[in-house]
Amino acid sequence: MAKLKDLGWNNFFKEAYQSYKTKYANPELYQIGRVSRDNKIYYHVMTIDSDNEVVEVTASLKGKSRKNLDPEQKPAVGDWVILDYETSNYNQTDAFIELVLPRRTSLSRKATGTASVEQIIATNIDYVAVVTDPEADFNLKRLDRYFTLIEQSGAKAICLVNKIDLYEVDQEGQDHLTDIKQQILDHFPDASVDLHFTSAVKKQGVSILKSYLDTGTTLALIGSSGVGKSTMTNQLLGQDWQWTSEVNEVTGKGKHTTSARDLILLPEGGLLVDNPGIREIHLWSPEETLSESFQDLSQLSLQCKFSNCKHEQDHGCAIRAAIADQTLSTERYESYLKLVEEVEILNQRKQQRERNVQRRNKRGKKVKARNLEDRIELEREQKPDNDLFNT
Ligand code: GDP
Ligand code: ZN
Repeated sequence: MAKLKDLGWNNFFKEAYQSYKTKYANPELYQIGRVSRDNKIYYHVMTIDSDNEVVEVTASLKGKSRKNLDPEQKPAVGDWVILDYETSNYNQTDAFIELVLPRRTSLSRKATGTASVEQIIATNIDYVAVVTDPEADFNLKRLDRYFTLIEQSGAKAICLVNKIDLYEVDQEGQDHLTDIKQQILDHFPDASVDLHFTSAVKKQGVSILKSYLDTGTTLALIGSSGVGKSTMTNQLLGQDWQWTSEVNEVTGKGKHTTSARDLILLPEGGLLVDNPGIREIHLWSPEETLSESFQDLSQLSLQCKFSNCKHEQDHGCAIRAAIADQTLSTERYESYLKLVEEVEILNQRKQQRERNVQRRNKRGKKVKARNLEDRIELEREQKPDNDLFNT
């Protein structure tokens, strides 16, 4: 027997709801639910049915509100909404979203390219766990940015330094962990962050996460790729779970319909905001990542004789000089080049996508997308880039 409380409902939302409820003539026609997936055209909403079971329904905004709402007023994953079943069906969804209740927390980033547009990643998250590892990914400045973002969201930050099993084996490794711990404590002295050292392969990460996950508590995991987020996520979801591609609505094929959601009710209670996109979300541009991870090379290239130096045959190249006198390793330079190349490809793709969108727009707004799938596709293309690295 499930309750709204299991989905995260609490006094904060209850009070907010009370003040709206009085405005409705027939409040009994409305149902409360929580957005579990945002398809842009319509939403999936978790709610409790008359048999006290958790069910997922589809819901859309009324035509008028779709156009008039600012991006941040539109429903986002994690939002509590009021569902109106009575007047529904324009989008063949089960219900209309009558209202989005005020958010307790809201995790957002600035969309790349459009500096002023806030892009909401998810709302009403209680804890955001930043996962990092003691080696390549470890970067205080990046942690700082994650923590700032989490603080701004209103959620509480947890920091997991994962893969410690690789370091615990010898004295040198242990010293390294001690050093990292000290660095974090020195850098974030006001104890606003819960710090844990974990090994996901030894299931330590998941047991720490579970200690935060009371009934109705919502958690999200963020961090660079390769640090262990999927490993922990899979452990949280349990064995039966698997990510599959979305269901093809034409053929009805799609192995696991329930995986098509971003807010998941966990088998042992609590909720996880997750999907492959959120997991790998990049909070800053590829260029920023590049210059941050390779500060030494950015510094060096400033010393090249020509500002447009390709570091190949160019005269007076500081990078080639550094390689020659072995102050810069060839491997590091090569991994730099690899990332530069990736950034270029991403930018090309982004430009291509923008061209596609423009072309579509030109083709005429009069040519209405023929069906729901087309409309979803169209909106996806038009929404600002939030996952450059996942294309
Ligand atoms: P994600 O990209 O952050 O989701 O990272 P994954 O969970 O896919 O992990 C990346 C790789 O690191 C995989 O090969 C994992 O098996 C490995 N890995 C994850 N956590 C640990 C850990 O605690 N210890 C060790 N030794 N390897 C880990
Ligand atoms: Zn150069």
